[in-house]
Amino acid sequence: MRINISKTKIKDPFVLKVQELSGQNLLACYQCGKCSAGCPAISQMDILPNQIIRFAQLGFKNELIRSKSIWICESCMTCNTRCPKGINIAEVIEAIRQILLRQRQDHVQIEKLTNEEKEDVPVIALVSSFRKFTS
Ligand code: SF4
Ligand code: SF4
Repeated sequence: MRINISKTKIKDPFVLKVQELSGQNLLACYQCGKCSAGCPAISQMDILPNQIIRFAQLGFKNELIRSKSIWICESCMTCNTRCPKGINIAEVIEAIRQILLRQRQDHVQIEKLTNEEKEDVPVIALVSSFRKFTS
């Protein structure tokens, strides 16, 4: 992947919004990787949790909003407990999801699921999907 770093990107309103919604200081991360090493969902992710933080630090908005990982994260908080800098990574990921959901961009379109698919989906997943509309 070709990486272009710029001052404009780092000061992008998207970065500031992620920090505001998550309440986290993104610049505290020093990329130790402990969050990713403990993540149970990592095999399904296209960007690792530590990379999500790094991309957010650098204002890589497009890479983040196109990422599968922000929807794969199951908010188990394991990463939060492992971070030596006290960063709540799960909240950062949730903040990115919230920005997209407020723009009505969701990963799962409940209304497009067939009845057969709805029967197979765990109830908690449906409840979770509906809760996104009220948060
Ligand atoms: S554990 Fe914390 S400091 Fe280490 S890479 Fe993850 S977010 Fe950064
Ligand atoms: S909260 Fe998300 S990113 Fe963190 S360990 Fe759990 S699944 Fe992985």
